[in-house]
Amino acid sequence: MRRIVAAVLLSLFLSLLVAAQTAHRVAIRAGKLIDGRGDKPIENALILIEGDKIVSVTPGGSAPSGTEVIDLSKSTVLPGFIDAHTHVLLQGDITAEEYDEQLLKQSIPYRAILAARNAHIALTHGFTTIRDLETEGAMYADVDVKNAIANGEVPGPRMQVATRAMTPTGMYPLLGYSWELKVPTGVQYVDGAEGARKAVREQAMYGADWIKYYSDRRYHFESDGVLHSMVNFTDEEAKAIVDETHRLGKKVAAHAIGSDGIAAALRAGVDTIEHGDGLTEALMDEMAKRGVYWVPTITVGVYVAPGRGGSWEKMAALERESFSKALKKGIKIALGTDAGGFDWKKLNQAKEFEYYVQYGMTPMQAIRAGTSVPAELLGWGDKLGTIEAGKWADIVAVSGDPLRDITELQRVVFVMKGGTVQKNELK
Ligand SMILES: [Zn+2]
Repeated sequence: MRRIVAAVLLSLFLSLLVAAQTAHRVAIRAGKLIDGRGDKPIENALILIEGDKIVSVTPGGSAPSGTEVIDLSKSTVLPGFIDAHTHVLLQGDITAEEYDEQLLKQSIPYRAILAARNAHIALTHGFTTIRDLETEGAMYADVDVKNAIANGEVPGPRMQVATRAMTPTGMYPLLGYSWELKVPTGVQYVDGAEGARKAVREQAMYGADWIKYYSDRRYHFESDGVLHSMVNFTDEEAKAIVDETHRLGKKVAAHAIGSDGIAAALRAGVDTIEHGDGLTEALMDEMAKRGVYWVPTITVGVYVAPGRGGSWEKMAALERESFSKALKKGIKIALGTDAGGFDWKKLNQAKEFEYYVQYGMTPMQAIRAGTSVPAELLGWGDKLGTIEAGKWADIVAVSGDPLRDITELQRVVFVMKGGTVQKNELK
């Protein structure tokens, strides 16, 4: 018996030894390193990477002999970006027609192919991680895209996915078609507290990392100057969604634009508020107190407003006001763009950083909003979001200085994900 144990231990030791020897080592020489922790960049830093993880970060420092060195000495190096709100299965929907056409005329396999392309676009723009917040009628195809990337079959960011999202019956498109037609639905219709619990279990069974639900619709300004909305679920239903999700160890994202929808989502106990244009002072205080994240998605709001008309222009202006107030109140703001709500090919989602600086963040705050803050939101604060020993080697670089010009982040020249170079324009 003792001999068997010794043999097992020896073979374990040998296999560890082999693994240590075969793990690929590479070093990055960074002209300037914004590690996502300190307030100032580190000049001339050496990042040592082994396999998919960062081993050490040293100012000055030289690479161990025989280690391949990637020369980024003329660049600014940062943690890989994180977009906490995307739709890889959507190709822009400024109008209802654009949305309906995708669901009616494109098969889910075709949409999944475009999703793989979109994931690659995100990666080349420096987004090494995304939280994809529902498939808009493409069922569980986000789980397949995520798995194909994780298995190394196609290039793309790390993903957490929400699968189908939820509203009660009749509160999300496709709508307005003859009752004689069976048309696809952009979300899963869910009714009653028991129905809510069952839907959460079903989505979790098929691979949802997050549960998303639509807290409201029909956004409108009233005489009090506040952006109001119609709340979708009863409190009992929304609480059942949140309770069941938390029971399964997962988290809830709520689409909530008007003040009524935000208030209802906070009553239900959600973890993140998406969009949040109609945030009032009282709602912001509540979010700050409870540590609920705000994912503002400014890029999409500004982009779709001219094409949508109605209250959308005023909503985009209101969100700018809310943003500076939220910043003063210390709300946790995580970068999210709603890419897919705009065409992935037409707009670089890193534009969101630019809005945050325009709306009152320092460039360093904006960078954290797109790196360490969403890493925590995803529950990956110990693995992602900063460049330090022990974390996954998700690293990007730009040629200029983003602390002087935040639009530099829209011109990423180098991308590494998990220690593998995905893009290098400096070679
Ligand atoms: Zn969205």
